[in-house]
Amino acid sequence: MNYNLELLKSTQPNVLKQLQAVYKNGKIGHAYIFEGANGSGTEEMMRFFTALLFCENPQDNVPCETCRSCQRLSSGNHLNLHEVFPDGQFIKVDAIDVLLHELSKTGLEAGRKIYIVHEAERMNVKSANKLLKYLEEPDGHVTAIFITNNINALIPTIRSRCQHIKFQPVAKKIVMTYLEQHGVTKSIASTISMITADLKEAEKLSQDDAFAHARKTVLKLVESLSKNVHESLLVVHEDWLPTFKEKDQMELALDLLLFAIRDIVAMKANPEIELTYPDMKQYWSGVALRSSYDVLSSQLQAILVARKNLQSNMNRTLLMEQLMLNLQEGKSFV
Ligand SMILES: [Zn+2]
Repeated sequence: MNYNLELLKSTQPNVLKQLQAVYKNGKIGHAYIFEGANGSGTEEMMRFFTALLFCENPQDNVPCETCRSCQRLSSGNHLNLHEVFPDGQFIKVDAIDVLLHELSKTGLEAGRKIYIVHEAERMNVKSANKLLKYLEEPDGHVTAIFITNNINALIPTIRSRCQHIKFQPVAKKIVMTYLEQHGVTKSIASTISMITADLKEAEKLSQDDAFAHARKTVLKLVESLSKNVHESLLVVHEDWLPTFKEKDQMELALDLLLFAIRDIVAMKANPEIELTYPDMKQYWSGVALRSSYDVLSSQLQAILVARKNLQSNMNRTLLMEQLMLNLQEGKSFV
């Protein structure tokens, strides 16, 4: 049950303040929903809030980390904490039965009990109804935290009994700073921060050779566009298609390509703007000078069409050949 308070301060400052205020005012609710995209810090915040509620001696609304409760929590054996996880696709009613049984026991440990429902959107109707009965008769010493990435998947009767805590996606700048602090170059960090707001996923991508190779391949294609269509088709056949064999790889590659053209458009408007590919700044500025807004916007359009065709499972070789022709059409960056 560990958490990184400094990280929470930068990723979710508002939620952190909100929960600390709840604690400070002594108005601790019976049930909370922590709603946020994967990687937005819902799990981490839950660990912080749980520790705060259990702590015997918090300092400035922060758990002390030294009391008996804090120690038990960090070693993973706090008797008043109960967690429910999905088993396969769903949170099954058996898991809820076990939970309710645990909660009904008269305390081995005095004080508040907390239960956590992870991936709460996976509760099936039976599980949700069973838990609802319990939520309808709130016990002053029990607090529930439902963690979900989709509040609409929870039944309305559960939603209405919980306080809703909404987590915003982690800002791009924070993803970048986080990666740079972990030794990732600014260039790679900028590109990754465009793709994901999930810090864990971002870190994984930054260590993934396949991602670095994908990025390189996309840039090679962009550079070939300044030459001629034959050059681009060559890159498509020799590099692009062999690298992006799966549909999701191709999807990411087309996004990366879209970001490249967007960089060029952005630079045309403001040469000092933050780029997805800062290492390409000099090259982009040359292309920006030679390309009109009309051409760039029709290129963006062509990539969006290719993305759509990918979704409708068009033959990928054909899709890329068509895209190369469309990107070249009327372009002035020769
Ligand atoms: Zn403590």
